Amino acid sequence: MPDCIIRATAADDRIRAFAASTRDLVEEARARHNTSPVVTAALGRLLTAAAMMGVTLKREDERLTLKIEGDGPVRMLIAQSDIHANVRGYAAEPGVLIGANEKGKLDVAGAVGKGLLRVIRQGSSGEPFTGTTELVSGEIAEDLTYYYASSEQTPSAVALGVLMNRDNTVRAAGGFIIQLMPDADEKLVSALETKLSALPPVTTLLASGMTAEELLREALSGFDVTVNETIPARFRCTCSRESVKRVRLSLGRKELSTLAGKPVEVHCDYCASNYEYSAQEIEELLNSLHEEETV
Ligand code: ZN
Repeated sequence: MPDCIIRATAADDRIRAFAASTRDLVEEARARHNTSPVVTAALGRLLTAAAMMGVTLKREDERLTLKIEGDGPVRMLIAQSDIHANVRGYAAEPGVLIGANEKGKLDVAGAVGKGLLRVIRQGSSGEPFTGTTELVSGEIAEDLTYYYASSEQTPSAVALGVLMNRDNTVRAAGGFIIQLMPDADEKLVSALETKLSALPPVTTLLASGMTAEELLREALSGFDVTVNETIPARFRCTCSRESVKRVRLSLGRKELSTLAGKPVEVHCDYCASNYEYSAQEIEELLNSLHEEETV
């Protein structure tokens, strides 16, 4: 089952919902960054959320970024999506190893710690829109639920899950975001609360092999779900030899001249690609910068 994001409505458009199955893209992130199991779970949850939130962007050039900075050993996690659910992301400390929590589960909250969640929407021009909230649990789904309630005044239920195989590759990943629209009445609110509180953990549902659509239909059974769109999702970085050269080597002539005469390797944090530039390429870049300065 290829990765995808489902957009749906329910209860006569008084509920808006998204669901995701993201096994392949989380596994690609794990393999690219060589993340430990707890970091795979943390980054996988964040990538899954970013993919679902990204499809609500309005324009092609916009990016939605989720950034978590905490006092736990992983320090920082970042995930970014575009409108087509192309996601990329990384952890500052991919190799963190900590013991299981008291439930015997991967201790994502322990790896993340206390800190801040930032939700950044940015186009290629104009000021970014940033919403910042404190982490309430560090488990990421609860933190996003709190973000939606406090920063966007949208009551939401967010569930995110990543399951590992014995060899620490990703077995299943996915989740959902269910949101109440302003015209939802008290009766609907309490019916949904009752339904969701009786729902098994999302990891249990994913472990049973449910697709994103099945996950959503299970979570919202009895609420008359209409699936509006299915969007393929994937891990895809926007970097290229040229873009990395422009951005990462545009240090200015002085700094660059210290690199002259030898090849330079530049690393893309988002996708862990390495780009090597020959001494000649560095020389040409230096000359082009020099020309710009003298023009
Ligand atoms: Zn990259």
